Amino acid sequence: MQLTRKGLWGGIIREFRDFLPEISDDAITTLLEGNTPLIECDNLKDIFGDIRLLLKYEGLNPTGSFKDRGMTMAVSKAREENAKAIICASTGNTSAAAAAYAAKAGMKAFVLVPDGAIAMGKLSQAIMHGAMVLQIKGNFDDALTIVKEITGDYPVKMVNSINPFRIEGQKTGAFEVCEHLGYAPTYHFLPVGNAGNITAYWKGYKQYHHENIITHLPKMMGFQADGAAPIVRGRPVEHPETIATAIKIGNPASWDSALRARDESGGVIEAVTDEEILAAYKLLAAREGVYCEPASAASLAGAIKMKKDGVLNDGDTVVCTLTGHGLKDPDIALKSSEKPVKVPAETKKILKVMGF
Ligand SMILES: *Cc1c(COP(=O)(O)O)cnc(C)c1O
Repeated sequence: MQLTRKGLWGGIIREFRDFLPEISDDAITTLLEGNTPLIECDNLKDIFGDIRLLLKYEGLNPTGSFKDRGMTMAVSKAREENAKAIICASTGNTSAAAAAYAAKAGMKAFVLVPDGAIAMGKLSQAIMHGAMVLQIKGNFDDALTIVKEITGDYPVKMVNSINPFRIEGQKTGAFEVCEHLGYAPTYHFLPVGNAGNITAYWKGYKQYHHENIITHLPKMMGFQADGAAPIVRGRPVEHPETIATAIKIGNPASWDSALRARDESGGVIEAVTDEEILAAYKLLAAREGVYCEPASAASLAGAIKMKKDGVLNDGDTVVCTLTGHGLKDPDIALKSSEKPVKVPAETKKILKVMGF
């Protein structure tokens, strides 16, 4: 038998080149992001009946979240323009991705994160990849305001999702869903924070539709956390509160384009409570073997809510994007679950505890 390179994945820029802005070969900075699994849910039929439910597991990207799709584009573009440094505000995952891709590109990364409101896994990534981590005494929205002020006047490229190349990279998530299914789903559920991802997925679906690769478009279903739901309330939330730190945002940068995705697709943007988010988070881990971070589970919590409300029908294909890996935030997992059983190192006693 002969070894071949057939089927090896080249990262989203190489794989989807025809559908992305041009980037010169020597600027491409990739950790081979993308090509994440679309996992069929088998064990939630008691909730979803004859609805086909699939999970786009973005936690399996190189730094553990979908942010890698946008970051490979933004950093490659910055490199093409000879930038020496990038900067972003982040609830955690953007900083992890920015730090990793900057390291790969040989650039400096500056990341501004809200003090005390970022999950340990994400902070450790930014530090390990050599970013300068600036923990500000403020929330994400304050950090983004400062980043916007700095990038106007200093030689650093901003890589938040208002950077259009981030959205371009992230739209490849929609391409992959279509490639896997052979068509677009009926509904696509996403957590909504700064609203870049819902904007990006909608852009991707529309592009494949325009190119006649798919014949229908999905309805875009965005879900915010109840304590951080500015789009649902119709006004900024000054002090956003939720356990889902990745979507703890009070004034989303892509607000208008999220509304457009909702309205053009005939979808919704609604809120789910922290309790609903945690329930979905545990359900996925315990019943489907898929560990995502709390914010990611807002998509499934939304789907459960829409099923209960009678919005979803038998025969529908429903995709939930799980934006980040559960290992990003093990604190929440341990705090919200039962403690391990402490037992003496004696077989008999252990067997008894095991119920044998
Ligand atoms: C960034 C992020 C989100 C929110 O995505 P937006 O594009 O800001 O709406 C949701 N979940 C996770 C895990 C994230 O890292």
